[in-house]
Amino acid sequence: MSDTLVFYSGPDPFEAWRDALAPHLPASTRIEQADAVTDPLSVRYALVWMPPEGFFERFPNLKLVINLGAGVDRLVARTDLPDLPITRLSDPNMGRMMAGFVLFSVLRHARDIPHFEAAQARRQWSYRHPRAAEETTVAVLGLGELGAMAASEIARQGFDTHGWATRERSLPGVSVHCGDAALAPLAARADIVVCMLPLTPATRQRLDADFFAAMKPGAAFINVSRGEVVDQDALVQSLQAGHLSGATLDVFATEPLPPDHPLWSLPGVLITPHLASVALPKSAAPQIAANIRAVQDGQPLANEVSRLRGY
Ligand code: NDP
Repeated sequence: MSDTLVFYSGPDPFEAWRDALAPHLPASTRIEQADAVTDPLSVRYALVWMPPEGFFERFPNLKLVINLGAGVDRLVARTDLPDLPITRLSDPNMGRMMAGFVLFSVLRHARDIPHFEAAQARRQWSYRHPRAAEETTVAVLGLGELGAMAASEIARQGFDTHGWATRERSLPGVSVHCGDAALAPLAARADIVVCMLPLTPATRQRLDADFFAAMKPGAAFINVSRGEVVDQDALVQSLQAGHLSGATLDVFATEPLPPDHPLWSLPGVLITPHLASVALPKSAAPQIAANIRAVQDGQPLANEVSRLRGY
C-alpha cells in the first residue's frame, strides 16, 4: 500500500528535502509538496514548518507530524493541530552549527570584541588585557539537545560553565542548577548568560526586569532561542542604563526586528536575523525516515515532543 509524506515550509527548499529523504524511505512512500498532493487521503506523515491555518484538515489519515526544526513552540500553540504524535528534529549537525554560533557569541564578549570594534571605528589602539577562560563564568539557560551541546563546547574552551534546567542531569565540565530558585543566584554570578530555553507557557517573558537586575553589572546577554522568552523592553533598559555591557541577539519578540527598534543602535549589541542554526536535509533525513518507518512498523518514535511541557 502506498502512503504519502506531505512537505510544507516557507524557507526550506522542497527539492533538497525530497532528494535527501527518498533514499531512506520505501519506494511506496511518496514525498509531495503540500500544494501538489495528488491523493490527500494517502497522506500519513507531515513534515512541516509553520504551515497555514487549517493545513491539517486536508489530511484526515495523518499519523505523524514532524516539526521541520528544533523549536516546536509555534506548532504546539496551534488550535487546529490534530491529536497525533509530534516529533522534532534532533540532528547532530544542527547541534554543531548552534554550538559554533554560541561559542562565537561567548568569545565575542569574553574577548571584548565589541570594545575593539568601537575603538577601531575611532582609529584608536585601545589595549585591554585578555583574561583566562577559567576566570569567565558562563551560564547556559536550557540544557536540551542544542543547549547541552553548546554548554559542552563552552566548557571545552575552559570557561567556568554552568547550566540551568528543570531536571538534574550530568554533563561533563558543566555545573547543573535546577529549579526557579536557582535562576537569580546563577544570573548574579555569570559574566555571560546564554538563553537556550524553549518558548513555553512557563518560559514566556521568564527573563524579565528582575532577572536582568539580578545579572552581574557589566555582564553580557546572548539569546539564540526565542525572543518571547525575554522581556525585550527590560533588556533594552538594562543595556541603556549600562548595567549590561552588551548582547548578541539572534531572536526577537517581533521578527524581522523593526528598523526603528532601539536594539539596532545600542553599543555592544550584535543583531543577527534568526540563523544561529538551521535544519540540514542530508543529516536530518535518516532520523525523519526512521520515525516514518517506526509508524509503518508500529514501533516507538524517537524525539517525540511533550505537548504538556511544550518542548
Ligand atoms: P530542548 O527542547 O531539547 O530542551 C529545552 C531545555 O530547556 C531543557 O534542558 C529543559 O529542561 C529546559 N527548560 C524548559 N523549560 C524550562 C523551565 N521552565 N525552567 C528551566 N529550564 C527549562 O531544546 P533545544 O536545546 O533543542 O533547543 C532550544 C531552543 O533553541 C529551541 O526550543 C528553539 O526555540 C531554539 N532554536 C533556535 C534556533 C535559531 O536559529 N536561533 C535554531 C534551532 C532552535 P529539562 O532538561 O529539565 O527538560
